[in-house]
Amino acid sequence: MNTVAEQVASHLLKFQIPSLETKYIFVTGGVVSSLGKGIISASLACLLKARGYRVTIQKFDPYINIDPGTLNPYEHGECYVTVDGQETDLDLGHYERFTNVRTTRANNVTTGRIYQNVINNERRGDYLGKTVQIIPHITDEIKRNVKLLGNTGDYDFIITEIGGTVGDIESLPFLESVRQLRWEMGRNAVCIHLTYVPFLHAAKELKTKPTQHSVKQLQEVGIQPDLLVLRTEHDIPAPMRKKIAQFCNVDPDSVIQSVDLPTIYEVPMALHAQRFDQTVLRKVGIEPQGEPDMKRWINFIDKMQNATEKVTIGLVGKYVELQDAYKSINESLFQAATYNDRRLDLRYIHSERLNDSNADELLSGLDGIIVAPGFGQRGIEGKFTALRWAREHDVPTFGICLGMQCMVIEWARDVLGLADANSTEMDHTTSNNVIDLMEEQKHISNMGGTMRLGAYDCELRPDSRAARAYGSTRISERHRHRYEFNEDYRERFEASGMRCTGINPASGLVEVVEVPSLRWYVGTQYHPEYSSTVESPSPLFLDFVAAAVAYRDERAAKA
Ligand code: GLN
Repeated sequence: MNTVAEQVASHLLKFQIPSLETKYIFVTGGVVSSLGKGIISASLACLLKARGYRVTIQKFDPYINIDPGTLNPYEHGECYVTVDGQETDLDLGHYERFTNVRTTRANNVTTGRIYQNVINNERRGDYLGKTVQIIPHITDEIKRNVKLLGNTGDYDFIITEIGGTVGDIESLPFLESVRQLRWEMGRNAVCIHLTYVPFLHAAKELKTKPTQHSVKQLQEVGIQPDLLVLRTEHDIPAPMRKKIAQFCNVDPDSVIQSVDLPTIYEVPMALHAQRFDQTVLRKVGIEPQGEPDMKRWINFIDKMQNATEKVTIGLVGKYVELQDAYKSINESLFQAATYNDRRLDLRYIHSERLNDSNADELLSGLDGIIVAPGFGQRGIEGKFTALRWAREHDVPTFGICLGMQCMVIEWARDVLGLADANSTEMDHTTSNNVIDLMEEQKHISNMGGTMRLGAYDCELRPDSRAARAYGSTRISERHRHRYEFNEDYRERFEASGMRCTGINPASGLVEVVEVPSLRWYVGTQYHPEYSSTVESPSPLFLDFVAAAVAYRDERAAKA
């Protein structure tokens, strides 16, 4: 085994990169929210990684919740879970999908966490005699957190995304911290500001004024951006970009446009075509050598663009009207469809509107059905309807977390004849609690960060679908739940044809159920969607979509 020093040396040699001090890239946003700072940050990280650098991305969120775990999807979209069990912003999902680098608790920090740390320090007496203030105490704590990952020595680049929009009251302490860090770090830090250039249809004109104002607001808090990324629906002509450069004090080659594209996966190459990565490198004093190695990424894009045949998947959930609620599932399906050389035709089926009388109409024609994760009673009956219909029509079906629990409940009701079977989450008086609160959850009173969270091992039966899909009998996947399969019923399920094929070796908890007599009927207590990336797509999603494709082709051959 090589020593760490030898490994680093060979890594540097391989990419001919001279050893460098950690570089910090700050990404701020202006004009409006939802511009896609996360995608821009992830795309830059993707390009730098393809140049051989060690990169990580972290996000600072200005809200007061300690983490987004207690926010509902209407407020915050999907809650993404890291391997070490932190409930985080969905942008961390993009970071992992684009870089294949795992994130952890240190990669997402909120105002709530910063204040909690400072207040704990104060109670401990760390500031004895002093008045505790936003400046310097809060800003110092922000700066300490910004540098945590850099201090590990594991990364050449730390990209820090500041959540929110410049001008928000709540993001001021973060921007003040960025200002100080840039001053302290000199050339080792740059700031990229993302703005919006609207197109006024009535005037048929692109407008640069909001960008100018947004940069002015940033300058007012002492930050001069080094690069601007302009989000736009239309191509911004070069003279207009030059004008923006002139009015915003940035170099003309540092004004990059990011025109709407059909998919987020096309963003890295579109930025690279404008020499975005080269310009960033020069700003931190590195002369770019050669080109980033984007072979695998380009292969993925080629597959995506060349796929002509589609695969139609129905996603059954109660948040289907929200585009961000099932982000990681959508992206995992998209990746799996692409690697199966198909175009993803994703249909959203609202579980509250699905019932026995419209199941045929809403579910016919689907090549595969996914039953989504979730919490609480609302929409649950529609999930059972979808599952019974899927079983009776033998359509490939994938249940994730609550979706898996619904598979178990529906089977208990319909196959085992336990009419009142339920999860105690939905009905705590049920006499057939086939899904029940985990033992260690029974005495928990705090709601924040107390579920079974993060990566746990799972032992798969060698003859299971899951083991074949993963090509392994020992896997590790991420979790976010309080309820579990009730062990007391296991024998009855096994005897009737629903097998428990994945078990956590330490606790004995059931992680995977399957019905081998059906085409593809698999439920996972864990969330495989959190670990699916372009470079390393989820084996279970790949296998599910392959089964859906086979089912589609089989029907087409008969028609
Ligand atoms: N509500 C279920 C539980 O807590 C499932 C959670 C989920 O789908 N993420 O166990």
